[in-house]
Amino acid sequence: MLPDPFFAGPGLDRADALRCQPDRIGALAAQPDARQLEWENGAPALGGDGRLRWSAVTQAPPLFLGLDGEVPHFSDLPPGNVPIDSRAHFGLLGQLDAADAPVFAAALSLANWHRRHLFCSVCGEPTAPNRGGWSRACGSCAAEHYPRADPVVIMLAEHDGRLLLGRQPQYPPGRFSALAGFVEPGETIEAAVARELHEEAGIVVRDVRYVASQPWPFPSTLMIGAHAVATGDTLTIDRQELDDARWFSRGEVEAALHGEEGAAFLPPPRFAIARTLIERWVSGRLK
Ligand SMILES: [Zn+2]
Repeated sequence: MLPDPFFAGPGLDRADALRCQPDRIGALAAQPDARQLEWENGAPALGGDGRLRWSAVTQAPPLFLGLDGEVPHFSDLPPGNVPIDSRAHFGLLGQLDAADAPVFAAALSLANWHRRHLFCSVCGEPTAPNRGGWSRACGSCAAEHYPRADPVVIMLAEHDGRLLLGRQPQYPPGRFSALAGFVEPGETIEAAVARELHEEAGIVVRDVRYVASQPWPFPSTLMIGAHAVATGDTLTIDRQELDDARWFSRGEVEAALHGEEGAAFLPPPRFAIARTLIERWVSGRLK
């Protein structure tokens, strides 16, 4: 079976139809089995087993995360500022059970979005949570604002059986990963993949194919994994964006994934979709 990206999976039943029924949500919050997410240091709290920690609902919390079977799950807005930098949470991600990762991602992204959208972007007046926490409504001009996910393409470029990987300045020593960049307004996924690879590595690609996607809650990105075929292997590296970029053979990539001594590079961590893309490429089956 092909590996799935971390954070992928169904998570809770989001029960979208209930969101516009405040009475139903209120009744769900009053159920004795209703559960409320616990927070710790600006992130959903984990138990020693890597699962999310839940407690009984105290006061109807503003965020309705969804249903697990019949059991309603809620979250309060965590106190203080929620760190949006993934590096602040990397230790936590190493412990997080993959089964709870989709709910962790949804709760963290949603909480961050509420913290950063207290005022209406149309008229500047205060907004308040609406639709079970899946929108905010302006009390002054009645505009309704919805949480967004920002699309980012992350791609493996291949040439003659070798893979292009690069390193960003903030990576730990030795790490190489897939190149990535934000999709810009008015751009397709395919165009963004081709543009980013040309900007960062100076290569021209064809046959861009979607492989897999991953929600990345720092603060709210949708990582869109792709594969592309490079028409040549001459690199012109944008040193503003990357420390380095190189072509790696299948053998070098395999040795890196297996953590072999003397491997050519350190692969991305298991919770990064880049890791999943590289594992799938090595298996010879991207899809
Ligand atoms: Zn407004």
